[in-house]
Parts: sequence; structure tokens; C-alpha cells
Amino acid sequence: MNLEGVKYLVVGSGFFGAVIAERIANIMNEKVLVIEKRGHIGGNCHSIDDKETGIHYHLYGTHIFHTSNKRVWEYINKFTEFNGYFHQVLTRHNGKVYQMPVNLETINSFYNVDLKPFEVEEFLRKEIEKENIKEPANFEEKAISMMGRPLYEAFIKGYTLKQWQKDPKDMPDSILKRLPFRTNYNESYYYSRWQGIPVDGYGEIFRKMLKHPNIEVQLNTDFFQIRDKVDPETMIIYSGPIDQFFDYKYGKLEYRTLRFEMEVHNVEDYQGTSVMNYADVEIPYTRIHEPRHLHPERTDYPKDKTLIIKEYSMLDDGTNPYYPINDERNQNLILKYRDEVSTLKNVKISGRLGEYRYFDMHDTINHALELFDKISKNNLSNKTTPSLSNGNGRRN
Ligand SMILES: Cc1cc2nc3c(=O)[nH]c(=O)nc-3n(C[C@H](O)[C@H](O)[C@H](O)COP(=O)(O)OP(=O)(O)OC[C@H]3O[C@@H](n4cnc5c(N)ncnc54)[C@H](O)[C@@H]3O)c2cc1C
Repeated sequence: MNLEGVKYLVVGSGFFGAVIAERIANIMNEKVLVIEKRGHIGGNCHSIDDKETGIHYHLYGTHIFHTSNKRVWEYINKFTEFNGYFHQVLTRHNGKVYQMPVNLETINSFYNVDLKPFEVEEFLRKEIEKENIKEPANFEEKAISMMGRPLYEAFIKGYTLKQWQKDPKDMPDSILKRLPFRTNYNESYYYSRWQGIPVDGYGEIFRKMLKHPNIEVQLNTDFFQIRDKVDPETMIIYSGPIDQFFDYKYGKLEYRTLRFEMEVHNVEDYQGTSVMNYADVEIPYTRIHEPRHLHPERTDYPKDKTLIIKEYSMLDDGTNPYYPINDERNQNLILKYRDEVSTLKNVKISGRLGEYRYFDMHDTINHALELFDKISKNNLSNKTTPSLSNGNGRRN
């Protein structure tokens, strides 16, 4: 691969890399080389048609696009239309299906009562008081002091154990801040202004974004195999794992990952919804995805078979890092790596692996657009101001 004269090198073709490359090519009219170590573009948002059923599915887990950020929404709509899909999650516990996150329907159905929204607090207070938790010291105590032990044990405990393979008593209460709990009938998973699934899938968005005469994409190309050949004047925009960029000098950051098992069943509709959680610890998987429900507008899906995908959660062995683990060890490590980033010249590190943070797609796109604003501003001022560089070309 000829890396001579490359001005912008983007590492990774997920949303972070793709947005940056598209903006540099389109708005700055500069050439960009995108390298991607996998055999496809799109990072973890990649989607394809299943060969056997023709049902479109997301290779790395169901991805629902949602945002309240107008800039992001207008940006993504340049590349796709959305189908108006509305995300709702259900959970199975003890042979019965309930709404998730826990809402008034879940509570009434679980206790077989008919509470009004203004009666829930008093009802749950009696449950909560039975436990006598003054200051919640961990995830379990925090959850119980929010909803009482019966709801916690039914809907949260088993799922959390399977997802993190840790006893909730040994987990920080801070994780629970992300768990919505409602005393009304709102069953929407997100409070976002816009949500949906791209009508032609995510794969098509990435093809459109990266199809530009200024963009060259090299698949199956690992940055660390070509790093030595990169010109010191090339700006590197890197969206791979931050610890790997620094050769793991402070140690490896840990991630949770997922394993998926695909099955085809000879029925039109297996579970009636796109995502069903399995709350009970006896069931080894955490969720079943049925991707046909992500595209209710598609009328050409088969009537005699459907695709389902069982999801299992585990510790990552370095193959597929998904969810950062926000414990003390990893937090200390990431601070050290971030300090290193600030000393680099001509290198930008971001995206979910570069930041070691869980980002939704709209967060990722927003970060990329913000970084692009900075890059284009610098590019403009470099064109108008004589260079003050010492010209030694050092990257750090
Ligand atoms: C299971 C799961 C479900 C999710 N569901 C949702 C959802 O419903 N809604 C939502 O908004 N968000 C969801 N997300 C988040 C979404 O996936 C991320 O926001 C998005 O993928 C981040 O984009 P990225 O470009 O930062 O990272 P990625 O998509 O991971 O892309 C990084 C790319 O860099 C490549 N790369 C890494 N190292 C190298 C290297 N050395 N050389 C070359 N290439 C390299 C990787 O192969 C990868 O393609 C989900 C995430 C997961 C894990």
C-alpha cells in the first residue's frame, strides 16, 4: 500500500471514521484513506441480509437509531430514510411477558393490582421499608431502595448477573443510574425526538457515506501492520482501541462482549417483537432478537420462516470489545491513556474504542462532527497563515 503523500488517514470505518472521512472528502475536498481491519465497512453497526431467510439483520446486535440532536438527525438523513420503527422492549419472567423498563403496566401486572400513577410510590414504599436500607452501598441495595425486593429479584437481579457475570452486591450503585423506572404507562425505550431503522439497513448508509472520489477504503488492513510506513506529516484519525495505540503500556482495558447464536424457525413470527429480554438466571442467554420486526414496512419477508438470534454476554478476550467496564481499575487506566493522547501531534483518537466509553450512534456521530469542525477550522487557518512549524515532523 502506498502511504506516501496521504494527508488524512482514518483508522476504522464505523460511524466515527465514516463521518470524519465523508466530511473531509465532501466539505474540505481533500483526499482521505480509510483503513479497516475487518472485511467490511460500518464497524459494529454493519447490517446484511440473512442468506436463508432474506431477513435483514445487524451483525453485532440490534441497533436502533434514536436522537434528539437536530444536527445529527439532519446529517444522517442525507444518507438514508428511516422507517418509523418504534422501539419497545419486553421481558420474560417465570413464564410471563412484561414491559421493560419497569413501568406501571409491569408493576400492575406483576402484583396483579390496578394502581394509579399517584398510588405507586406509597405502594412501593411499604416494600422498600421492609428492607431497612438507610444508605444504599451497592447496585443491589440501590435497586431495592428504588423498587423493593420482589420487582428487583424478578426483573433486575438475574439479568444483571447474566450480563455482567457479577453478583449485583459487588457492583457499584452508579450503574443503576442508567436504568429507567417509570410510574406511568410509557413503554418507549427512549426519550428521543426521532427514532427508527434505516429503510435499506445500516450497511447501505456506510456505502453511501464512503462512496466518494476523494475516499479510498482498504479493508482487511490493520493499522498496526502499516503504522511504521505512515508519513509523519499525515494526520491520523484513529477509532481503534486506545490502549492498543500505546502498545498497552499501562495494561489492557477490559470489555464485556456478546456471542450470538442464529436459528431459523419454521413460523412467520417467533416472539412478536424485535427484542425479548430473559430475566431469569436459569435461561443462559440474556435476549432473543427477531430482526424481521425491525422492518414492519417490508412486505417481502417469508411467511413460513423467521430468523432469531440468541445473545449471550461474556468477558472479551480481545476479539470483539463491546462494552467498557467502568470499574476502578479500568477508570485509572483510561485516565493515564488520555493523558498520553494530549501529548500527540497530528493524531486524533476517538470513537467508542478510542474514548473507552459507551456511545450510542448519535453520540458517535456528534463527536465526529465536532472533531471535523476543529480539523476543518485548522485546515482553513493553515491555508491562510504562514506555517510556524519547526518542520521536524515528529508525531509526539
Ligand atoms: C451490542 C451493541 C448494541 C448497540 N446498540 C445500539 C443501539 O441500539 N443504538 C445506538 O445508538 N447505538 C448502539 N450501539 C452503539 C454503536 O454500536 C456505537 O455507537 C458505534 O458502533 C460506534 O462507532 P465507532 O466508529 O466509534 O466504533 P465501531 O463501530 O466499533 O468502529 C470501529 C472500527 O475500527 C476498526 N478498527 C479497530 N482497530 C483497528 C485497527 N487496528 N486497524 C484498522 N481498523 C481498526 C474496527 O474493526 C471497527 O470497524 C450498540 C453497541 C453494541 C456493542
